Amino acid sequence: MTEITKHIGLDDTDSTRRGCTTYIAAVLVEKLTKLGATFVDYPSLVRLNPNVPWKTRGNGALCLRISHDDALELQIKEAVVSTVEKHSDLENKGTDPGVVFFNSARMPREIRDFAQNTITGISKIKDAKKLLRKYGGEAVAFKDGRGIIGALAAVGETFQSDHTFEVIAYRTPENYGTKRRVDETSILEMDKATKPNTFNNVDEERRRVIITPRGPDPILFGIRGESPEVVKNAFQIVKALEPVERWVVFRTNQGTDAHLRRVKELSQIRPYSSIIAKGSVSTPPRMIRGKHVIFSIKDLGSEVDCAAYEPTGVLRSVARKLIVGDQVEVYGGVRPGSSDRPLTINLEKIRLIKPASQVTYRNPVCLKCGARLKSMGKDKGFRCDKCRARYPTFTKTAVRVKRDVIRGLYMTSTRSQRHLTKPSSRYGMEKHRRGVESLVDEWHFP
Ligand code: ZN
Repeated sequence: MTEITKHIGLDDTDSTRRGCTTYIAAVLVEKLTKLGATFVDYPSLVRLNPNVPWKTRGNGALCLRISHDDALELQIKEAVVSTVEKHSDLENKGTDPGVVFFNSARMPREIRDFAQNTITGISKIKDAKKLLRKYGGEAVAFKDGRGIIGALAAVGETFQSDHTFEVIAYRTPENYGTKRRVDETSILEMDKATKPNTFNNVDEERRRVIITPRGPDPILFGIRGESPEVVKNAFQIVKALEPVERWVVFRTNQGTDAHLRRVKELSQIRPYSSIIAKGSVSTPPRMIRGKHVIFSIKDLGSEVDCAAYEPTGVLRSVARKLIVGDQVEVYGGVRPGSSDRPLTINLEKIRLIKPASQVTYRNPVCLKCGARLKSMGKDKGFRCDKCRARYPTFTKTAVRVKRDVIRGLYMTSTRSQRHLTKPSSRYGMEKHRRGVESLVDEWHFP
């Protein structure tokens, strides 16, 4: 009898019309526990680069980390593959599930790096396969097998730095597609009792609850927070008004900005990556169709466009107030250029580092009577209408105007934030290392 540590990665099982990879993970928590496996960590919910062109919905990949007797090897693999097969939307074009099995007590550096690359940029399926061969992992691919990329990335994300938790409650199948029934007052009460240790429960601008998704997926609601204890406690405050089939606590990279990679120069920006970059505003903001705001930034070598796409909200109103010369740091996903538009950063956040001084030019005042002078034409000086004095050599005087935007960090409103976006309430709460911890007593049901 030998005890084996096994990582099971899952990705790309869902579609916009059906399913959810976290649900498959939740079902497997029950099945693998019943088979006799022991979970050595909470299941990982790893959100991958939200800017890849072929993503499904939330672009979340999952990993289950268990320890088991080697005699269970086959039964475990069979349970995983059959569960993925049963709950994936295999008829949907673009749903290409992948499963990865990897036995190892420690995670090789190269697989951790592969995970980072898949969270911030684009990884190739052939690189995933190469790593699996090199380190002895096993992949099961359905259809074109693109899911293997995310599955391996979920395996390799071991959350050595900032991370969060989410408890997700699932509906019973007869309720799929119907309006979710959760007592709203209890959600507001939970939010009040647990924030800032939970986040993104309520859209503050519109006072609307956002823990319940819309759509046909099996999720009833999810609560995000800083620790397993916090999200479990919050979960107990919320009153579900329909049956909860199961619930699980996940360890996640949600709310951490893990997708954003800092680039030193604008010339290093690549299409489909998620970046943080500095530059100075080089064209005045302009409104385009759909009331989006576009402006350009430049550094010594290059220039790129930035777009605030939100129809309302803080980010767009700040973008409109920028002026040429403002030093900014921009955060967002990169859209490739085309024949009629350059590379564009879809903004998630803007930091105004150093506002440029804004100056207007005004006519000088009369030295004799103090009245504002009138121009006598370009380069011809000024005259006073009141006392008739003339000042042929006077020029306009520069006056500094107070800006109506101040330095600081601005972000999209809660309702339009991506899963990965670090909300303002989490600033200062980041985890810098993985603590030594044991799992809380009850982190799943059943
Ligand atoms: Zn005068």
